[in-house]
Amino acid sequence: MARILVTGGAGFLGSHLCDRLLDDGHDVLCVDNFFTGSKRNIAHRIGHPYFELMRHDVTFPLYVEVDQIYNLACPASPVHYQHDPVQTTKTSVHGAINMLGLAKRLKARILQASTSEVYGDPEVHPQPEGYWGRVNPIGVRSCYDEGKRCAETLFFDYHRQHALDIKVVRIFNTYGPRMHPNDGRVVSNFIVQALRGEDITIYGDGQQTRSFCYVDDLIEGFVRTMKTPHGFTGPINIGNPGEFTMLELAEKVLAQVGGRSKLAFKPLPSDDPKQRQPDISLAQSELDWEPKVALDDGLKETIAYFRKLLAEGDVGEGR
Ligand code: NAD
Ligand code: UDP
Ligand code: UDP
Repeated sequence: MARILVTGGAGFLGSHLCDRLLDDGHDVLCVDNFFTGSKRNIAHRIGHPYFELMRHDVTFPLYVEVDQIYNLACPASPVHYQHDPVQTTKTSVHGAINMLGLAKRLKARILQASTSEVYGDPEVHPQPEGYWGRVNPIGVRSCYDEGKRCAETLFFDYHRQHALDIKVVRIFNTYGPRMHPNDGRVVSNFIVQALRGEDITIYGDGQQTRSFCYVDDLIEGFVRTMKTPHGFTGPINIGNPGEFTMLELAEKVLAQVGGRSKLAFKPLPSDDPKQRQPDISLAQSELDWEPKVALDDGLKETIAYFRKLLAEGDVGEGR
């Protein structure tokens, strides 16, 4: 049994990671400031003898004793990370420094939840880890993209300078139960709109593509990355290479939900990447990992989750 810190542990991915680590028999410390996370995501674990919850903002130092750290704290959807962009950069950069300082003191292995956004609007397709990306440093997405890029830099400098045992995972769009109903991401938007019989909002012409990974596959990739031998640092892409246009996604959601929603075309947000697809050959060779859950199956689980949430009337306003 290891003592494992999960920052951002009350969020979408973090709460699934806490579940998995507890089920594997570990002692889990969940740290979150509840900016986008929710106690609802982890309520079922409160009272578990090996689960501890701490309200804390990772931009401030943290003194605890653990063996491993998963650093997930950071708002992930454009509406949330653009709400207070300065805080977003601070969370990625100061948060990384504090968690790396903690890992250095404890000689603990530390994994960073990075993102496919480090590739920006890519001119290489699909994106292998060796691609350096095309990111606008001064746009509205930059607080997130450049914050995550700087966090990667810090991870590799702590590795080179202080011999820290680091793992950097670049996550591609992931979906599943416990996504926020109001976070504006495409999967949650389309499902909630379809369930309410509202128009499905397609930004631009809907021909832009994304590759959607089901949360259980992603978590398996995380856990396998954490177990790689000392010296394997990544960065490593974790995502599902199945690539769909937003129009295809809308069709899939409508086919499962049924109902009377129509498509409503809206302007494309600025700096919106045209296409994104992970090259997962490194994950296949290093982790013997590839995603198992097909989009239709993952959507079924996610739709069931949102249907229940809407039935309970619990789709909080704002965040
Ligand atoms: P999320 O918003 O559900 O989770 C982020 C969690 O971090 C929330 O619980 C939030 O309250 C917490 N948090 C934010 N700022 C904090 C701070 N300063 N101190 C402490 N806690 C803080 O998002 P998610 O989708 O679960 O994303 C988790 C991580 O994975 C993020 O780092 C995100 O950048 C990364 N990621 C996610 C995706 C995806 O598709 N979901 C894709 C790429 C990368
Ligand atoms: N830090 C922390 N917990 C620890 C050790 C360090 O939060 O257990 C923070 C502390 O705020 C420090 C940062 O991590 O500023 C970076 O630590 P490091 O040892 O790299 O640098 P220094 O302490 O010299 O600034
Ligand atoms: N999108 C859309 N309708 C929505 C929300 C998003 O067409 O209601 C588009 C968005 O413009 C982008 C894609 O869906 O091209 C994925 O958006 P999301 O915010 O989920 O993820 P990201 O852009 O960060 O990959």
